[in-house]
Amino acid sequence: MSSPPETSVTLRCGFCAELTHVDLAQAEERPECSSCGKPILLDRPVKVAQGDFEETVLGATVPVLVDFYADWCAPCKMVAPLMDEVAHQNVGRVLVAKVDTDAAPEVAMRYEIRSIPTIILFRDGEETERSLGLEPERVRGFVAAAVE
Ligand SMILES: [Zn+2]
Repeated sequence: MSSPPETSVTLRCGFCAELTHVDLAQAEERPECSSCGKPILLDRPVKVAQGDFEETVLGATVPVLVDFYADWCAPCKMVAPLMDEVAHQNVGRVLVAKVDTDAAPEVAMRYEIRSIPTIILFRDGEETERSLGLEPERVRGFVAAAVE
């Protein structure tokens, strides 16, 4: 067994719900789930459950942008196109994730999410930037700085 590459992330497959390793450096080559062989889609936000937060977000060696949202939250829907844009433009460089705060109360408490949407940039398991509400220029700016 060789160790996973620096750009490897652990994601839960949207089709079979198994955890799979994806090398983001190979993201353009349409990576597939190691369990079911279906494509892992990285040009859009990936949903991260509370139980996977540690491994998927904090364990990633690439920058991870996380949108903390809830289904009932109208302003969160205004942030969604921004997250789609960041994911689309940074395939292979930034992992864009979303966490449903209703389904992840422990994660929301740990990061003291008091209002949603809250967008946090994590690098090497640490919060480095935070944006509250809809601040597209700010989010674009700190993502650009993270991938420089
Ligand atoms: Zn799968």
